[in-house]
Order: sequence, then structure tokens, then C-alpha cells
Amino acid sequence: EFKALVVNKTDTDFTVNVQAVSMDDLPEGEVLIKVQYSSVNYKDGLACIPDGKIVKTYPFIPGIDLAGSVVSSSDPRFKEGDEVVATGYEIGVTHYGGFSEYARIPGDWLVPLPKGLTLKEAMALGTAGFTAALSIHRLEENGLSPDKGKVLVTGATGGVGSLAVSMLAKRGYEVVASTGKETEHEYLRGLGAKEILSREDVCAEKIRPLDKQHWAAAVDPVGGRTLATVLSHIRYGGAVAVSGLTGGTDVPTTVFPFILRGVSLLGIDSVYCPMELRKQIWERMASDLKPDKLLQSIAQEITLEQLPEALANILKGKVRGRTVVKLP
Ligand code: NAP
Repeated sequence: EFKALVVNKTDTDFTVNVQAVSMDDLPEGEVLIKVQYSSVNYKDGLACIPDGKIVKTYPFIPGIDLAGSVVSSSDPRFKEGDEVVATGYEIGVTHYGGFSEYARIPGDWLVPLPKGLTLKEAMALGTAGFTAALSIHRLEENGLSPDKGKVLVTGATGGVGSLAVSMLAKRGYEVVASTGKETEHEYLRGLGAKEILSREDVCAEKIRPLDKQHWAAAVDPVGGRTLATVLSHIRYGGAVAVSGLTGGTDVPTTVFPFILRGVSLLGIDSVYCPMELRKQIWERMASDLKPDKLLQSIAQEITLEQLPEALANILKGKVRGRTVVKLP
């Protein structure tokens, strides 16, 4: 037996508890992993509330990210002792996830830990870091480079936001960060942001189809009215990489940024990102996109027992940076 965070839902009750689980409870999969670290993402917060619409069957072990070492494997690509990372796919959604001392995962979903990252650093990045890195990668494929102008990051103190700010700064971009947290401007400057805006600055009362051209590109995990506002301020030929919905799902925009300024809207999905690109993004996170202050100022470490509180906080938009879970 081992410990895991288990969510359960019955007709009358919804519970989130650390409890003993047996190896036989783990789902099918070729590779048994001793999980050393996991992390807290917005989606994990949703998985741990009664109507979060993430988990379909109960009882369930959430956790969309995990990193650890292989205990045994029937997949020839992995052997005992190999260090691996897994994010996305069905993990923490329909397949038991990372908030557990052990996980059994299909070999097709595993990425070998890249050289240049520890297991803990890999989880300080996790799905949030992957999403930030994929956003930057796609923007650069669309022609973005530091000489093109300022790059905006919305929801900047969040997981995706904090990592996007530091990755862009490391690559030499002039980063503009927007945040709702007035107390965290110093934190954002420490990550490399040159200019700080409020949430309201990037979420207009009245959204004009075309507005002053401020930014060459944007990394946007907020969505909603913020995305519509940002689109109207993107410079000619620029792009927005959209990954999230903390600011809402409805985007009241028009065709004008697209047809009069050639602006592109790039959709970012970390969950089913194909394995070849996935490995390339992990390699970049271990090298040219590796944030300088990952463990010093972006990530904090908690235990399984502290998870319920951290999960509640991320849904309230109260979390700064990343939360890494150390498994026993
Ligand atoms: P997070 O750590 O909670 O960050 C979200 C940030 O958004 C908050 O810290 C806050 O930053 C800002 N925010 C919160 N409520 C807001 C509101 N009502 N209006 C405007 N801004 C608000 O979450 P995360 O893990 O980084 O995830 C961010 C989003 O990306 C989520 O929607 C998540 O589902 C999505 N996501 C998508 C993918 C994908 O594959 N597409 C992958 C990962 C995450 P400030 O206080 O600094 O403004």
C-alpha cells in the first residue's frame, strides 16, 4: 500500500483525502513509476471540486503532471531506474495521475527526463511551463524575434504567466506583464518583466476592433475579454498564443485584427501535443528556455497533505508562480 490524494463523489458526499491505495487499484499501463514530484495546475483544482467537469468516474487520483523513476516496464523503451516525465494525455483526467506515490502509465505518454533538468525542476515547469514554452515556440515559428517589439504576458503571476515572463526575458525579449496582483510587481520585475500593467489595462470596458498597436505578440492564458482587447493592440503581422480561460471563454472580437493587420491567433494545447514536438519543447525547457530563478523564486514545495489547500487557492486565482508536490 502507498499514499495518494483520492477524490470521491457519491450521491450525498464529495471528499478529497490523502489515503492508502493498493498497487492493484492502479490502471493499466506498461510502465510503473515511483513518483517523486508532481505539481498543481488550474485543471487539478477543477478536478477536486464536485462540478469541475474534469473527472468522469470516482474514486479518482488527480494530478496531470508527474516525474519520477521507472520501477518496472514491459515497454522496451524504458527500464528500471530511468527518470521520466509525464504530462497531459488522459493523466489526472480519466487515468490515475500524479498525486500518488506510484503511477502506472502507458509508455507512449512518457518523455525521458531531458539532460539539464532535475525531476523537481521538471515539475516546477510541468504543464504550465510546457504551455508557456509551446506558446513561445509557436510565436517564434510565426516570425517573432526580440527585435520585433514588446511581448505581452497576461495573468503574469500565474503558473503559465510566470514561466512565460521568465522564459521570454531569458531569450532577450522585452516583456510587458499584466497582473491583477498589485503586491507582486517586484516579483515580476525579478523574473525579467520591464513594464507592468494592471488586469484592467488589458481588459477594456469597450473593446475597439482596432486600437493602438502596442505589442508584437502576446502569451495569453487568460482568454475572454482580455484576449479580445489584446488582439486589437497587436502590431501588424503579430500573433497571440492563447492557452487558457481564467478570464472567461467568450471572446468578443471582430475579424478586423486578422484581415486588416494580418494578426494570427495561435491555439496552444499541451494535452495532446504530438510526441515529437513534445520532446522538442522539453529539450528547449532544459536549455534556451530554462528559467533562471525556477526553484529560487517561481516554485514552492508542498506535501500531499498540503495539497487540498493549494488546489482551492489556484481556483481563486490566488497562487503566485508554481507549486511542486513532493511525494513521500
Ligand atoms: P494559474 O496559476 O491560476 O494562473 C492564472 C492567472 O490568471 C492567475 O494567477 C491570475 O494572474 C490570472 N487570473 C485569475 N483570474 C482572473 C480573472 N478573472 N481575470 C483575469 N485574469 C485572471 O493557472 P495556470 O495553471 O497558469 O493556468 C492558466 C490557464 O491556462 C488556465 O485557464 C488553464 O486551464 C490554462 N492552461 C491551458 C493549457 C493548455 O494546454 N491549453 C495548459 C495549462 C494551462 P494575475 O493575478 O497575475 O493577473
